[in-house]
Order: sequence, then structure tokens, then C-alpha cells
Amino acid sequence: MATQPTRPFPSVDRIAHFAAVESLCETYGRSAVIDAIRAVLDAHRERVSEPGYLSPSDNELSLQIADRLQQRATPRLRRVFNLTGTVLHTNLGRTQLSSRAIEHASMAMREACNLEFDLDTGGRGERDSLVEDILIELTGAEAATVVNNNAAAVLLVLATVAHKREVVLSRGELVEIGGAFRIPDVMRSANTRLIEVGTTNRTHPADYERAIGPKTAALMKVHMSNYKISGFVAHVSELRVARIAHEHQLPLIVDLGAGSLIDLAAYGLPKEPVVRETIASGADVVTFSGDKLLGGPQAGLIVGKKALIDRIKRHPLKRALRVSKPVLAALEGTLLAYRTPDLLLQELPTLRLLTRPLSDIEALADRLLPLVSAALGAQWQVNVTPVSSQVGSGSLPVEIIPSMALTCRPTSAKVGSALKHLATEFRRLPVPVIGRIANDALVLDLRCLEDEHAFIAQLERLAAKGSS
Ligand SMILES: *Cc1c(COP(=O)(O)O)cnc(C)c1O
Repeated sequence: MATQPTRPFPSVDRIAHFAAVESLCETYGRSAVIDAIRAVLDAHRERVSEPGYLSPSDNELSLQIADRLQQRATPRLRRVFNLTGTVLHTNLGRTQLSSRAIEHASMAMREACNLEFDLDTGGRGERDSLVEDILIELTGAEAATVVNNNAAAVLLVLATVAHKREVVLSRGELVEIGGAFRIPDVMRSANTRLIEVGTTNRTHPADYERAIGPKTAALMKVHMSNYKISGFVAHVSELRVARIAHEHQLPLIVDLGAGSLIDLAAYGLPKEPVVRETIASGADVVTFSGDKLLGGPQAGLIVGKKALIDRIKRHPLKRALRVSKPVLAALEGTLLAYRTPDLLLQELPTLRLLTRPLSDIEALADRLLPLVSAALGAQWQVNVTPVSSQVGSGSLPVEIIPSMALTCRPTSAKVGSALKHLATEFRRLPVPVIGRIANDALVLDLRCLEDEHAFIAQLERLAAKGSS
């Protein structure tokens, strides 16, 4: 389609009057179109001296300008299919919110709302009070507050309770969570001195007792979210550490990480700490994430004794770490689901996916098998295979949930490069499909695939590209 080797380029103004370019102004506005014309012309001028370069036709120029505008208008943040088998995948955004949470957040973003306004008195209100009552109801705590995420919650609690003083923590609980959250570093940022007690595998009540001195501000427990120690181990229960703390008039701070508001073990899932139980064991302040097992937006929840929570609310850092109105609305929309327990698992996607019946996933796998197999062609052997999903986001990775996957194995010899190539093809689909490579196969765990039709609709693109 290209024309003569080097035709002088039309002027910006002339190009702007091409019918195809003029019509772009309606979508993007004139200034962005002019910028795009200049950028496309600059790119051509740079290449003019390359051997074999052919000047573009007017039509080609128009298409290139339209492409550039469209590309620049496309968001970087995109929907993907999470077929990794990790339900709460931090890199893929952790929770998917419930419709109620999303609609409530949309309302808060679209309209004026009583974010910090008391509708009874007409006076100033407190944004946290919108969710405080329901958090108290769901956890049994005396008071509650909310910040940006659980890392912020831990930081704020330590800065309030233990500024320039000591916090006693077992060596077995000095955890690092992904994304550079390390308990010792957070302590340092909060200007708190960490007193490590016990050993990596064993800590005893007397270890806590011995560490308490005049500078002690609190005892702390951190849930060992993402690892497990087994063998010759001993740890001190929350109940016991709480008793030791209270005998010395000290508070017990517990960072639960993925604390759940319901007992997941009742649904056959691995036992995760339940916030209400931790409060009942005597913890004075408990922190946990909004976007882990709770199933809501990114937030850090702080619940506990009223006197302590009041101090936390007044700390200057609280203002810096507070949540925005869409987040608060999404959180309220999520928490309301817990008031109708019989419908909870259906309403909250996180809990729905975690408790999805295996027979359901298997039936889906059977339906998809022939379609994926046909799309990939003869170079790939596709099977339905039992696999293990995990909760993710710092819930015990050693605790696994039976699931079903489609596993794609190359029939040719060059296994490694073929797998990488296929994984790339899946990622390049309009809705990227993210699986994982394991045991010489691309594994697509189907636990989190709910939009079957959208998945199937794009398979033909794979057929057109992949097996050629
Ligand atoms: C996940 C986790 C955190 C960090 O929570 P974010 O909400 O991601 O900031 C802190 N502590 C523990 C124990 C965790 O599991």
C-alpha cells in the first residue's frame, strides 16, 4: 500500500483535514489529534533515511494517527482472568468486591454524601462512625477505626501505643509479608523498640514475663500468615499472652493479617483466625486487612478497647492514613453482607470462590476442555487435572483447597520455550488469562473463572495466532 520511496510528508494542517482524521476530533478533541499527527510525522522523519523506507499513503497516516490516539486512551489497568489458583492474589488485586459494595462506592463517588456530617444534628460527623457500629457488632470489640491498609494499621497502633517505648514479640513471629512489610522495619518506623523473645521455633510464657520492664508499652502477637513452623515447636496462645500482659497492666496488640469475620472452618476451609475469637481471648487491639478474607476493599481495620481506639483516632498519623469515601462506602457495603449470614457466601465473591464446590469447577473444566483443546491445536495436549488452590495473601500457603485445572502440555520436545510462549499468548488476549507454569504444563486453575462466556469468546483468537 505504501507509495513512492520518498514523497514529502503532507503538512500537519493538511493531515488534520483528512476526513478520517477530522472525525477523530469528535472522540479525542482537536489538540490531542494535532499532537498525534506531529508524533506520527516525527516517527516517520526519523525513519526516512533507513534503507528501503517507503513513505506512507494518506490512508496509512490516518490509521497510524487513529492507532496512536486509541492506544493512549487505553487504560493500563485492565481486567484479567485469575487462573493462578491463588484466590486472594495480591498482584492481581486481591478481592473482587460484591455488587452491593461496588454500587455503594459508586454512589459515594458520584454524589455528595454524609461522609463527615451528622444527619441528626446537622453538625460535623466522624467518617469512621459510618462503619464503627457494625464492626463492633461483628467482632465483639468496644470500638473500631479504619485506615488505608493493615500495614498502616500496625504502624498507627505502634506509633500511638509504643512511641519511644518497647514492644515484646516472639522471634517466631518476626514476619515479612510480600511487598516489603517486615515487622521489625515497621517497628522502627513507628519509633518503637522491638524486644524479641524466645527462639524461632519455641517461645514460652516465661520469655514474655522476663522481657517486661519499665519501658515496656505492650506485648504483641503477629499471625504467622505466610509460613508455618512444624516439628519441635512451642508457642504461647493469645489467651495466655493476654493474661501476662494484663497482669502487668499492659495491652496486647494482635496483628491478624487476614483475620476473618466468620469461621471458615465451618465451610471445610483451612482454619484462619476469627477476629471475634481474638478479641474474646483478651487482645486489646486487633488489626486486620479489609481486602483479605473479609472480602472488601483495601483497608486496615483496627478494633479493640475503647480507651485505646480513642487514642489511636486522635493520633496525627490517623489523618494521614485515613480512607477515602469510595473505600469507606465499599467497606460498609461489604460489611452489611455479614448481617445476612445465610446469603453471605453468595454475595461476597471472595467467600463464594473459596467455597465453590469442586463438582462445579469440575463440570466447568469438562465443558472447557474440548474448546481449549481445539483452540490450541495438535501441538498441545490438554487435560482436566486435580490441583490445589490456595487462599493467598498471607493465609497459610501450606493449607490447600482441592480444585480442578486445565493443564496444557506441549507434544513437541521444546517444552520450556513452548510453555512460555503459550503463557504469553494467553496474557496477550483482550482479557489476559493468567495461569501458572508447573510440572512442565501451563496450569489454568478454574476455581476463579466465573465468566465462562467471556473466556470462551476469546479462545478463537488463540487459535488464529497460537498454533500457526
Ligand atoms: C497481609 C498482612 C499485613 C499487611 O496487610 P496489608 O493490608 O496488605 O497492608 C500485615 N500483617 C500480616 C500478618 C499480614 O498477613
